[in-house]
Amino acid sequence: MARTAALVVAAGRGARFGAHQPKQYTDLAGQPVLRHTLARFCADPQITAVACVIHPDDRDLYDEAAASLPLLPPVLGGATRQDSVRLGLESLLDYAPDRVLIHDAARPFVSRDLVDRVLSELEQSPAVIPVLPLVDTLKQMDTTGRVVATPDRSQFGRAQTPQGFHFAGILAAHRAACGQDMTDDAVVAEKAGLTVQTVAGDPDNRKLTTPADREWAEARMNRAASVRVGNGFDVHRLEAGLPLWLGGITIPHSHGLQGHSDADVALHALTDAVLGSFAAGDIGLHFPPSDPRWRGAASDQFLRHAVTLLRAVGGQLSHLDLTIMCEAPKIGPYRQAIARRIAAIVGLPLGQVSVKATTTEGLGFTGRREGIAAQATATTLLKVGL
Ligand code: MG
Repeated sequence: MARTAALVVAAGRGARFGAHQPKQYTDLAGQPVLRHTLARFCADPQITAVACVIHPDDRDLYDEAAASLPLLPPVLGGATRQDSVRLGLESLLDYAPDRVLIHDAARPFVSRDLVDRVLSELEQSPAVIPVLPLVDTLKQMDTTGRVVATPDRSQFGRAQTPQGFHFAGILAAHRAACGQDMTDDAVVAEKAGLTVQTVAGDPDNRKLTTPADREWAEARMNRAASVRVGNGFDVHRLEAGLPLWLGGITIPHSHGLQGHSDADVALHALTDAVLGSFAAGDIGLHFPPSDPRWRGAASDQFLRHAVTLLRAVGGQLSHLDLTIMCEAPKIGPYRQAIARRIAAIVGLPLGQVSVKATTTEGLGFTGRREGIAAQATATTLLKVGL
């Protein structure tokens, strides 16, 4: 899979928003604008790493806005936007992405579809930008305000972000353009001789600049929620002598589940169900078994992380339903304890967490006591437009 980094530029001081804080840190539907933006990239399975360029004065604001999101360490920006982007790109050298999307922090409505369009076109082109058509007639004026020409507006577009690039090409272009002052990254690419291809932009991917933008954004965030359902399924092998973690608790048993993490099959199925409800990939994508960080890891953090991502994109968990399939141990005596533990992990009332268990009548691998399977359903409320 290609490595695709998202570089979110949040180093600006933009005070036009009419707030005391830089606009990317002001509140939008209960969370900083920047958090909405970062969360959308973190939840997109096509994006493999997310980094943010921040102003040195904003470290505390950033830490709060980015809490618990899976991000690369933040990068301190420079004197101009162009400097900040270049420093951000340099910081990605260790990660060595194939492609990079450079995005304004103040565009929190970047959609999965738009990211798809940019990434698809990047298969053919070294540089891709989303543009919107002009709806008003364009006039060229002299210094006195007199119209001197009416250019054909169909030949013009309004550039948005994310702007996508082959990583090596845009890094070289930014290094070459160092010290000049250009208003977006596409022009840096143009100056370096790269072909910049356009794709259709998204009118909702608005840059929040004025108080009017802010009002629009609040209304946009508060549109009716839609109900989504995700399902998850997982199996782990039973092995003698291991501790048995199931549903976030340990259960006394001769055998335990074997796996890279604590192998809590129930929490894994629940994590996949939550991720599935907003099409955010699966547990293996967010916590690769190849990553030594997750060796022996407690699985409650996987489930908590899925819920954090869901909330960060404006979603809300409303119900979980879990079925554990095994011959032994008997789950009945632990059902309530498991439900309470799951409710505590995800922050739901006990009445919205259902835990069930079944045997498979001695049939199959569960019947032969070779492993335990779990199946889960998550119901979530998601703001329309995600
Ligand atoms: Mg698993």
